[in-house]
Amino acid sequence: MMGQDQKPLEEILDSLEGKEKIVLMGCGGCSTIFHTGGVEEVGEMAEILTGEGKKVKKVPLPFAVFACYKPFSSMFVEEHKKDFEDCDAVLMMSCGDGLQTVREILDEMGIVKPFYPAVNAMGVSGGGPDKFIEKCRACGECIVGRTAGICPLTECPKGLLNGPCGGTRPDGKCEVDPDKDCAWYLIYKRLKEIGELEKIMEFNGPHDWSKSVTPRTFEREPLDLHKHLSRTKEVIESLGI
Ligand code: SF4
Ligand code: SF4
Repeated sequence: MMGQDQKPLEEILDSLEGKEKIVLMGCGGCSTIFHTGGVEEVGEMAEILTGEGKKVKKVPLPFAVFACYKPFSSMFVEEHKKDFEDCDAVLMMSCGDGLQTVREILDEMGIVKPFYPAVNAMGVSGGGPDKFIEKCRACGECIVGRTAGICPLTECPKGLLNGPCGGTRPDGKCEVDPDKDCAWYLIYKRLKEIGELEKIMEFNGPHDWSKSVTPRTFEREPLDLHKHLSRTKEVIESLGI
């Protein structure tokens, strides 16, 4: 998931200065999980903006409907086409990925509007339900099969690939941040636990950063949405929801 925080309200209001009619669009994916752009947060932001004298049209996306996935977000854009046409600006309560996906959909429809983010994206983070930790820098060349399933690029502030820096504290904590465990202390312990300690002696060559030159692009077969959503429906029903 994309870890994220809401921007300070002052910054959001500054960005909307001079704009009266605002479309406020959320995201049913990570932004719902991080409480930065779910249905409730869109409602709360709409109230605030209305209190500031703005005319607001809400486009909240229900849970699991990702703003960054064109087949989903374009359905909502189509449904609210007139609101987008009439607005002075779009305030997007999603990460920059969702914002730019929706901006592209509108550009392709010939509806060219200013977009402003209400959210700061903070990196690929996992966990939940209440605590999330950045776990992956999306480097494009995953090596965690050699490091006990722990990413040294993300876990170690220096991104060291071949053992600790020499500053590891006697209690196994990191020299940069004494509140966190040294990545290589964790890797050593876990390699031992899974019977792969010999891997600590294997040399990891220089990382191929060319694989993380942006923007990276991907081509894939489109999903059969009907088939996949039917499965989701089965799961929802099995949960008694
Ligand atoms: S090695 Fe690269 S792809 Fe694998 S977890 Fe770390 S940053 Fe992510
Ligand atoms: S103490 Fe460990 S985690 Fe901290 S910088 Fe050194 S090698 Fe990296």
